[in-house]
Amino acid sequence: MSSTAEAAAAPATLSVPSARAWRGLPSLALAIVAVLVASSFAPTSGYILNMVMQAATYAIGVAGLVVVLGYCGQISLAQAAFFGLGAYGVGIGATDYGLPFLVALLIGVGVATGFGIALGLASLRLGGHYLAMVTISFQQIVTLVLTNWIGLTHGPDGIKSIPRPSFPGLHLDRGDHYLALCLVVLMVVTWYAWRLKTSRLGRAMQAVRDNEIAASTCGIDVFRTKVLAFGISALLGGLGGGLFAGAFAYISPDQFAFGESIVLLTMALLGGVQSPFGALLGTTLLVLLPEWLRFLKNIYLAVYGAAVILIMVFLPDGLWGLVTNRLRRATPIEGTVPPLPLLSQRASASGEPALEIAGLAKHFGGLKALDGVDLTVRRGAVHALIGPNGSGKTTFINVATGLYRPTAGRIRLAGQDLTAAAPHERTRRGLARTFQNIRVFRGMTVLENVMIGAERPGNDIAEQPAAVVGRALAALDFVGLRGDANRLVGTLSYGHQRYVEIARALAGNPHVLLLDEPAAGLNMTEKGELGALLRRLKGHGLTILIVDHDMNLVEQVADHITVLNFGRRIADGSPRDVLSDPDVIAAYLGEPRENALA
Ligand code: ADP
Ligand code: MG
Repeated sequence: MSSTAEAAAAPATLSVPSARAWRGLPSLALAIVAVLVASSFAPTSGYILNMVMQAATYAIGVAGLVVVLGYCGQISLAQAAFFGLGAYGVGIGATDYGLPFLVALLIGVGVATGFGIALGLASLRLGGHYLAMVTISFQQIVTLVLTNWIGLTHGPDGIKSIPRPSFPGLHLDRGDHYLALCLVVLMVVTWYAWRLKTSRLGRAMQAVRDNEIAASTCGIDVFRTKVLAFGISALLGGLGGGLFAGAFAYISPDQFAFGESIVLLTMALLGGVQSPFGALLGTTLLVLLPEWLRFLKNIYLAVYGAAVILIMVFLPDGLWGLVTNRLRRATPIEGTVPPLPLLSQRASASGEPALEIAGLAKHFGGLKALDGVDLTVRRGAVHALIGPNGSGKTTFINVATGLYRPTAGRIRLAGQDLTAAAPHERTRRGLARTFQNIRVFRGMTVLENVMIGAERPGNDIAEQPAAVVGRALAALDFVGLRGDANRLVGTLSYGHQRYVEIARALAGNPHVLLLDEPAAGLNMTEKGELGALLRRLKGHGLTILIVDHDMNLVEQVADHITVLNFGRRIADGSPRDVLSDPDVIAAYLGEPRENALA
C-alpha cells in the first residue's frame, strides 16, 4: 500500500493529537484581535500597565521552561540569564550601537539561543544534578559578566533610555500599544509551545523525559532532542528579555540574577510546567500575588512563600494540572484503520540471515557476561535465546541494540555492519525491542507511547501525522488495547503495559523484533494470552528473537533455540535437539538429568 493511500485511509473522525493543535489556529487569530481591541482600553502608562507588561514578558520566558523542563525533563536554572542576554542584546544594540530595535532583538535572541545550545551540548557528558549545576554556573557567569564588563554592559548602573521599536502607524512608544505587541508575541509563543507538545519533536522530548533508554531504542536521538529543547528554551528566554528591555527602557544586572531564575522556575512549576497555559497562569499569579498580599505588611513575604510551597507540594502538576487532570477523558477512539503492514506482507526472503552476531563478548570488569557468542536469526523465524538467570541474555540484547558497547564481536543487520552504531541508528535500520523491566513513557497516554514507535525514523509513515495515529491504533488493535488508547499508560496493569511495549515496537514495522522475557511478571492467564499473541506474530512471518526462561512459551513458538550458560553458547539448533541435550538440561536444572528427575 502506498503511503499516501494509507494516510488518506485514516478516518477523518480520529482525534489526531497533532491535528488537534492546528485547529487552534483560527482561535489564535481571534484571540489576537480580542487582545488588540482590549488593549486599546488599557491605561497608557502607570502601575497596572507595568505589571501586565512584566507578566507578559516573563511569561514568554517561562514558556521556554515548559519546553526544556516540562516536556524534555531537563532542569535549567539559567532562564533569567537567557532573559538577560535578550534584554542586553536590545539594550546595548539599540542604545550604544543605534541599531533598529528588531535587529538588536534578533542579535540578543541569537546570542541567547547560541548559549542555550551550548548548554544542551553539555548534556552529552552530564545528566541530572550535574547538568543542573552547570546551568547554575552559567547563570552566575552571565551575572558576573553583566556586572563587570563595564565597557560593554555599563556595569551595575545598567542601561537607560532603551528605545522601543518604531513601525509606521503603530505608535509603539505608547504603553498600551507596546503592551499589545507583547501580548501578541506571548500568544503566538503560547500557541507554539502548546502545538509543540503534540508534535513529533514534542513527543520525542517527552519520551526523553520519561525514559531515555527506551527513547533511544525507539529511534529518538536523545542528545539532539535535548540540545533542541535547550535551544528553544533559551530562544524564548531571550525573546521575553528583549521585549522586557523595550517595555521598561531600563535594565541592570540584578534583574537577571540567579534569584530571578528561581522566580521563573517557580512560576512554571506553580502553574504547571507541562503546559504553556499553566506557565501563563503561574506567571500571572506570581506577579499578582505580592500585590494581593500587600495588606499583610511585615509578614507578607512569609505568607507568600508558604502559599507557593503549599501549592507546589499539594499540586505536583501545578494549578493547570489540577484543571486538566479533572477534565481528562479516557474515551476510546472510534474508526477503522488499515491493518499493520507486517500482517499483509509475509516474509519474502524467508531463511536469509536477518541478524548476524559473531564472537560477541561483553566483560564487566572481570565478569564475562558474554564470551564469544555466535548467533544468527533467520528471516521469518522465531529464534529463542534461553539460559538460566544471569547467563547473559539481557546483556546480549543490550549489546545487540547498542545500549552497551561490545568488548569484542560483530553485529550485522540485513547484511549491514552495525557494531559501532548508536541505539537510535539501529532502530532506524529496523531493529526493535522490548524490555525485561518494562520501560514505557509514563507521562504519556497509551496511544502516544505507540505513536512514538510508529514515528521511528525510517518507518514508511513516520512523517505523516494522520498515518502515524492510524498505525499506532492498528498496533493497539493487534494487541487488543485499542479501548485504552487515551488512558495514561501508568494506569494499565503490568501485563497490559507489556503489550503497550510490544505494540510500540510493532508500530515501527521492524525487520527484527527482540523480546526480552515478555512473560516475566505475568500471571498464568496473561501468559496464555501472550503465547497466542506470539503465535499470531509468527503466523505473519515476523522475524523475532525471544529471550525467556519459560520453556513452555519457548516450545510453543520457537523454530530455533540458542542456549547460553555463564555467557557462553552451550547449544544451538532445532528445539527438539536442543531441549534433549544433556548439557542444556544440566545447565537449566543445575545438576545432571538423572538426579534432577529423581
Ligand atoms: P540474564 O538476562 O540472562 O538473566 P544478564 O544479562 O542480565 O543475565 O546478566 C548477566 C551477568 O552480567 C550477570 O552476572 C549480571 O550481574 C552481569 N551484568 C549485567 N549487566 C551488568 C552491568 N551493567 N554491570 C555489571 N554487571 C552486569
Ligand atoms: Mg535478563
